[in-house]
Formats: sequence, C-alpha cells, structure tokens
Amino acid sequence: MSDHAVADATTRSRQSSRAVHHEVIVIGAGVAGIYQIKRLVDLGVDAIVLEGNHDVGGTWYKNRYPGARFDSESFTYGYSFSQELLDEWHWTEMFSPQPETLKYLEYVVDKFDLRRHMHFDCRVDAMRFDDDTATWTLELSSGQKLTTHFVITALGVLSVPTMPTIEGMESFEGPSFHPFDWPQEPVELAGKRVAVIGTGATAIQIIPEVAKEAGHLTVFQRRPNWAAPLNNRPISDQEMDEIRARYDEIFAACARSPGGFEHEPDRRGWNNVSREERLELWDRLYDGPGFGIWLQNFAEIFMDEEANAEFSDYIAERIRQRVDDPELAEKLIPKDHGFGIQRVPLETGYFEAYNRDNVMLVDASETPIERITPAGVMTADGTERPFDLIIYATGFDAFTGAFDRMDIVGAGGCRLHDKWSDGPLTYLGLLVHGFPNMVMLAGPQIAATNFPRACETAVDWATPLLEHMWAQGLSRFEATAEAEGTWCQHVADMYEPLLLRKAKSWITGYNSNLEGHEYGKMRLNIYNGGGPKYATVIQQEAEDGYPNISFA
Ligand code: NAP
Repeated sequence: MSDHAVADATTRSRQSSRAVHHEVIVIGAGVAGIYQIKRLVDLGVDAIVLEGNHDVGGTWYKNRYPGARFDSESFTYGYSFSQELLDEWHWTEMFSPQPETLKYLEYVVDKFDLRRHMHFDCRVDAMRFDDDTATWTLELSSGQKLTTHFVITALGVLSVPTMPTIEGMESFEGPSFHPFDWPQEPVELAGKRVAVIGTGATAIQIIPEVAKEAGHLTVFQRRPNWAAPLNNRPISDQEMDEIRARYDEIFAACARSPGGFEHEPDRRGWNNVSREERLELWDRLYDGPGFGIWLQNFAEIFMDEEANAEFSDYIAERIRQRVDDPELAEKLIPKDHGFGIQRVPLETGYFEAYNRDNVMLVDASETPIERITPAGVMTADGTERPFDLIIYATGFDAFTGAFDRMDIVGAGGCRLHDKWSDGPLTYLGLLVHGFPNMVMLAGPQIAATNFPRACETAVDWATPLLEHMWAQGLSRFEATAEAEGTWCQHVADMYEPLLLRKAKSWITGYNSNLEGHEYGKMRLNIYNGGGPKYATVIQQEAEDGYPNISFA
C-alpha cells in the first residue's frame, strides 16, 4: 500500500469518527484472522479483529477435550510467512495436541504484538451493508455498533457445534456438553460413568482418552466411521533442526499436493499395479503417519466403487485384527459407505479401547436413544443406563453455520441466510454476489486442504484485493452474478466424479440435527479440485485485474 493510500484510508476512518469506524474489520482471531491482521498491520491500515471468545485461537481455544489434536503434521500446520517464527518454534510432537497448538497461536500473536488490534468477547450478531456509503455496520451482542469499509470473515469452518434434539436433555442431573464447549477447568473423570454420543472424528479422539480415566464408558454409535492410525510420535531437538532446514521444501510440497500436505497421491494407476503391490503400499501407509492412508493412496479408490470396496475390505480386516470380540469388530466396521468418502478420522488406540472391560458399545441404530432421563440415557428397548457425565460429540453446522447465526444483510436488503437456504453460493469461496466489500477467508467452497495452508492462500489473495481498492481509490467491490454462477457450476462438477458426493457427511451438508441438512439435500460445501488448481484459479483472477469483480 502506498503512503498516499494509507493516508486516504486513515482519513476515511477519522471522517466517520462519530461512530466507531475502522477501515477493515476482521471477524475471528483463529488461524486465518491472526494472519490477516498481521498483513493489515504491516500495511499500516486501521484494522481490528473482533473475536467472540475470551482470547485468541478459535478452534484451538474452544476444543479442549481430552485427545484433541490435529491430523496435520505439525510442521505443515504452522504459518509459513515468517522465517524468524519458523526458526524459533519447536513442535514437540508430529501431530500437536490442542494445548501446544493454542500456545503456538498465542506465541505468534504476542511475537508480532497483534493483541492490541484485537477485541475479545465481541460477538457480531448482525451486519448490514449501506449502499449509499459502501460501508458495513456491525452490531455486537453488547449492542455496540461499529462501521467499516471492508469486512473480512475468519469464522472457521467447524465453529458452530450442533447438539442433538433428544427428549429430556435438559432434565439430566449431571454435567453434559459438546466437546467444543469442554470446560476450561479440569473435568473429573476418575471413577465416573461416562456416555459419549456420536462416533465422528471428535469422539474417536475422545473415547480412548476417556476410557483410560473413567470408571465406565458407554459409546452410543449410530453409524460407525472408518478410521486409521495417526501414528503420532515426539519430535526431538535434532529432528526439529532437520525440519527447520527443509521448511522451503515442505511448504513447496504442500503447495504441490491436492490436500496441502506432504502426502501426494500414488499416481501409478490402480490398474497398472498388482494386488501385491497395492497391499505393499497399504501396509506401509497404515503404519505410516497421518493422512498418508487417505492422501497417498490411489485416486481411483475415491472414484471407483470396486477399487473403493477392495480398499475398504483391507481396512476392515485391520479393524478385525485389533478388536478382540469379532461381533463387536463387525459393529465398528462401516457397512453403509466406503473408506475415505467421509473425512477420515485418525486415531490413537481407538479400536483397542473397545477391548477394555470398562468400555461398552451401544448400537444406536438397533436400539436408538429414546430420551435422556435425569439419571442417564434410555434406549428404545426400555433400558435406562445411569451416567455421571454425557458428552454429545454430535458434530457441527459446518461452513455456513457461523454465517447463518449472524444476520448478514447485503446490498438491496438481501439476507445471506436466505441466499444460502439451499446451500452456499460463492465466487471462489471468497466473495458472494450481493454482499459487496466482504471477503471470506475460511468460507464454504474454498479448496478443502490442510487448513492453515488454505488460510494463507486466502489472506494472500484478500490483502492485494484491498490494496488494489486503496491504490485505485475505489470504494466498492462485488463478484458478478455470472462469475458466481460459473464458479458454483464448477464446484458442482468437481463433486461429480467423486464417491464422496454420496456421503452422509458435512462435506455434502448432512447433519441429522439441523433442519434443511437432511441426507439427500446436497450442499456444495467444499471445492474438490485440490489446492494447486484452486490457487491457480484465484491467482489468475488477480493477475488479470479481477475481470469477474465489479468495482465502483
Ligand atoms: P461428525 O463427524 O459430524 O460426527 C458426529 C457424530 O455424531 C456422528 O457419528 C453422528 O452419527 C453422531 N450423531 C449426531 N446426532 C446424533 C444423535 N442424535 N444420536 C446419535 N448419534 C448422533 O462430527 P465430529 O466428530 O465433531 O467431526 C466433525 C469434523 O471436525 C471432522 O470431520 C473433522 O473435519 C473435524 N475434526 C478434526 C479433528 C482433527 O483435526 N483431528 C478432530 C475432530 C474433529 P450419524 O453419522 O449417524 O449422523
């Protein structure tokens, strides 16, 4: 940004000093919001972050449940923008646990002195665009109003938890909560009778940890999920030095791979390798770290029913080897979908947890939960099981939930909630026609990749767009309706060849606890074209001078 443009932006802020006005407001102080405010502060722009939580971290501030950690290799999860930061930070585990990741984000914020640009406990309830002034007015839950020229949303993709709607939930006499709202003070588990409802990625992390502590754990499983070992391990000082020496190579590999990881698909071709060669790869991947089992596999597995069935059988066999009771093992093996068409949870001792005497599985597809009683959970067969604690690991209102809970009114009084009632419509997952001067950093229809890699891509696109506005003296930008239509068609086309289009998963918008999210009401939540293709498309838009964005 030129000095002249900075001066202009600052003058605009002062001119509207009657209302609290900022040139840019970023909503959310998680991974995306932190990097965005860093870029804006570096430009000298009057920008702030509004964060609903009491401190920084987003997902990592909230999800404090036992076992919470990411499935990305730690050194591919950190920010790449600062060499100094890369040189300083020591990841202690291949897959960092929640407390360390939160500490990392706090460290970044303190290192770059970003906290003074952040306002905590500030939840935005509503946002309204004023066509005459090309500004947004934001209303906080405190009643305070702020105005801004540009809004950048960094709301997270899984930041609105969904509780089930089971009769009697409010009558339960013990503590009960969603893992997203796990209390900050220690939760006493020793000797307690604990229920976990749900068997998604979150529950799969919680179950083995709670099993170690609790007196007894009962898991209510409606549909099993495929899961594979995380294979976590510590990172020594020497290994961290080696990682630091190859950070350029690591980030280049992430930028090359569809998923934003070092894992790249096996491109030999399913039909060009023998069954023995396939088995050799799968054994290696199953014993290897992280998402290799998903992302270093043959692409055909995710497009071809037969290939998928063969690989699913392989994983089923690995599950049978790990669970002592053969009948129980069968219950833990998904029969309604193949491996990898839902987001694959990675686990540490998940299947072995069921070999413990203090762990029991209730098949809630056979005996559904009928109601929650003051003492515990009653199933349809009339059995009431008493509990001291109930954990509802029942998922999220993914991608659009964080937007839907704000009343966002764009140009001409158009409500985002109405526009997205059948699913998100965006241009490049970054802009929405009818909602000028707003950029989404972690919105729907971005490339589904290693989250921080996607965030950096989005911030590195959004920031030059704003610089373009300031440099040209422009006041309003908006994606054209045509461009949005073309992008949404492309997003739909990218779902077409993939088996995941049939998944009962947040990837297709399924959530049994949300009206309008029933199975079959497809929502195009993610861009399946992969990180490199996505980056090329959005970079091209910028290089060509934003031909699909109208300016005023
Ligand atoms: P999820 O995958 O949507 O799983 C929700 C679970 O709750 C499902 O098993 C669902 O069963 C069950 N459920 C919902 N309502 C129910 C009800 N009324 N009765 C019984 N069961 C019910 O949610 P999640 O586990 O929170 O994971 C969401 C996403 O968060 C993951 O896919 C992942 O992207 C992210 N995550 C990441 C990590 C990580 O990085 N390591 C860890 C945790 C989560 P049905 O399938 O039958 O509906």
